[in-house]
Amino acid sequence: MQVRLNKLYGLFADAGIDAFYVTNPENCYYLSGFSGTAGALLLCRDKSFLLTDFRYTDQAKRESPGFKVVEVSDFYAEKLAQVLKENCISRLGCEGDHLSYNQFLILKDKLVNVDLKVTSGLVEELRLDKDNTEIKNIEEAVRLADLAFDQVLTMISPGVSEREVALQLEYSMRSMGAGGVAFNIIVASGPRSALPHGVASSRLLRKKDLVTMDFGSIYRGYHSDITRTVVLGKPEPRQKEIYSIVLEAQLRAIGAIRPGVRASDVDRAARDIIAGKGYGERFGHGTGHGLGLNIHEKPKLSINDNTILQAGMVVTVEPGIYLPDWGGVRIEDTVVVEESGCRVLTKAPKEELIILS
Ligand code: ZN
Ligand code: ZN
Repeated sequence: MQVRLNKLYGLFADAGIDAFYVTNPENCYYLSGFSGTAGALLLCRDKSFLLTDFRYTDQAKRESPGFKVVEVSDFYAEKLAQVLKENCISRLGCEGDHLSYNQFLILKDKLVNVDLKVTSGLVEELRLDKDNTEIKNIEEAVRLADLAFDQVLTMISPGVSEREVALQLEYSMRSMGAGGVAFNIIVASGPRSALPHGVASSRLLRKKDLVTMDFGSIYRGYHSDITRTVVLGKPEPRQKEIYSIVLEAQLRAIGAIRPGVRASDVDRAARDIIAGKGYGERFGHGTGHGLGLNIHEKPKLSINDNTILQAGMVVTVEPGIYLPDWGGVRIEDTVVVEESGCRVLTKAPKEELIILS
């Protein structure tokens, strides 16, 4: 934690602040280890405060021993004003990406004689570069999703509903130790598989359906994200063709990932394959996204993101082709950028379209 705090303090001078008020729960957790859902950090170079209410004070002391825990009974802004005054702080940064407009107005009103500066992405920039502990947590979240996929294959058959498939995935991940699901599980079958984000419905699976499952688990706050598409019964030639194009695009994008490459170049690697086969119009989303304490983080593997990839970044690679009224295929892995290239964390099989009966 201290390494992260020191890196953040190093950004204070450029931001023109002497202290930083952190309200985003994931950023609070990242910087302090505090996992409660109500709290805020006041970070000064020589002293760090954790403001929270009675429900969490014991937990805060346990989880964040380096912080002075300040109990707030009613209003955070008033308590914050008092602590700032006691510590003679006059230039304070706040998180413009996370405070609501009303919360900002309240801070402005209560913090008299404080120069309140709105910052953007300070902690998120640090979070781009995952340390070994973070990568280990993501690996475990990936492992739980891989195991759940393996288990769910045994129950996918005609007559089972998308919702039952989603429930089984969630049950498997949670019973093996996941803290929760990374997002609302997508199970999109038959023509619904043409919906890139078709959350599981009551539709019953049928023979010949493509079934796209997009899901992930959370482990110690860190997310995983995987998509696999399977088919029920002998696949039609077109189903095999679309699957092999998506797989080729996905492998090409993974092959392009290494330090020094632009995020947009990885996107282009996948997009060129799909466009080259005539399906460019049917791949309407980015190739992937960073993930960590949030399911969507920087960088985006998209045509407009020129972030230079660095070792320690974790991204998904998830091209897809979606044909309205017919169906769709997406294949997604979680990948960590390493000095020598990248490492695919997802182990669930994808080499060919999995056929279930
Ligand atoms: Zn996904
Ligand atoms: Zn994703």
